[in-house]
Amino acid sequence: MGNLELIVEKHSERIHHGLEVLPTLRHGLPAGLGNKRWTAELILATYEMALTGDLPKNGLEYKIGDSGGGFDVLGWKNNGFPKIDEDDVDLSISLNKREVGKKIEIPLPIYGGGMSFGSISLNFMLARARAAKKIGTYTSTGEGGYPDAIVPYRDHVITQVATGMFGVREETIQYAPIVEFKYAQGAKPGLGGHLLADKVTSEVAKMRESSMFTSLYSPFPFHSVYSVEDHKKHVDWIKTVNPRALVSVKVSTPTDVDMVAIGSYYAGANIIHIDGGYGGTGAAPEIAKKNIAMPIEYAIPKVHDYLMSEGVRDQIVLIASGGIRTADDIAKAIALGADGCVVATAEAVAVGCTHCGNCERGRGCQVGITTTDPELSRLIEPEWGETRIVNLFTAWSKRLRSILAGFGLESVRDLRGRKDLLVRYK
Ligand code: SF4
Repeated sequence: MGNLELIVEKHSERIHHGLEVLPTLRHGLPAGLGNKRWTAELILATYEMALTGDLPKNGLEYKIGDSGGGFDVLGWKNNGFPKIDEDDVDLSISLNKREVGKKIEIPLPIYGGGMSFGSISLNFMLARARAAKKIGTYTSTGEGGYPDAIVPYRDHVITQVATGMFGVREETIQYAPIVEFKYAQGAKPGLGGHLLADKVTSEVAKMRESSMFTSLYSPFPFHSVYSVEDHKKHVDWIKTVNPRALVSVKVSTPTDVDMVAIGSYYAGANIIHIDGGYGGTGAAPEIAKKNIAMPIEYAIPKVHDYLMSEGVRDQIVLIASGGIRTADDIAKAIALGADGCVVATAEAVAVGCTHCGNCERGRGCQVGITTTDPELSRLIEPEWGETRIVNLFTAWSKRLRSILAGFGLESVRDLRGRKDLLVRYK
């Protein structure tokens, strides 16, 4: 066995250790693991789904956390709906509802969110890209550029264009089936991005066309966009460079997020992606996370209802992110009015994230996810990571099918906006 295989095996053993001792953990989960949203139990349940591709059979809570609010206090009505066979449920959604442009469908209402080269390791990026290809969905580069190693997966990679314009090149826009403008992120709206000097290795600096071990800031906002007209010029720029690309617009959730969404629709966006306040890695400042952006549970119906009232809801795709942890969160987001969801943290948990919060440091991530340290990066072997993420999504699909079949819904598209199926149960 080579060194790398040994490292990966040890890592795999370590993150599954919790599962082996579950009978004792049921009455005393590991101290310090998780938090109220990502509870220790939810983290362990996610590890198990990533290992088996199935829903946990050992009693672990895999549907909700313990935050006392939002998705955690929303449940499903049980009014004796006529059930259908789970195999008859279609989970696919379209990512382009306009009459013009390429028709893209994904088999699950899920794709991967932007996490940049520099904030995460190349191996984790590769694991995500490989998983996206295997599933037939997408992952996003984030704002740190487009490493050559992910070019083979480019049909499943979204190129992100963010305010720092790091690594944005004509060819990476031309590679992309979808280009994503990141105007803001829900974990830190109004703050832009900040990659600490520690993580700016020579590879990261080269990719971002900057200097090694120098902190890199992405401004807020795009200084070229102060109106819907400016925004339209941005969308037109991408569609000129790559006429095949769909355009997604990622924004945080200010109180007028419905106005932002309608502006993006008229600017020509195919996808409006709203990012609530509970996402982000441990690198996002705690004071910003959870305290600035509107929780995604409020933002989704606000945007959905407004787009409906304007008569354009069926021409734009509404994607939600920022605290989506489970299949139940995804289904609830769709019932509130989204078409689908973007996830990122859950993929990190699938490959061993413990929510320790050390993401911003160069050597900080002990499991090789949010690190640029060459040795630590090797802890995520791309093929192994791919399997874990595919397994997690497979387990989630089973839960989504079960929810939909329980309501007699043949398609996840029929769940959109069905707030009547939700109940507040705490
Ligand atoms: S440092 Fe690594 S394990 Fe810790 S929260 Fe960040 S990604 Fe997760």
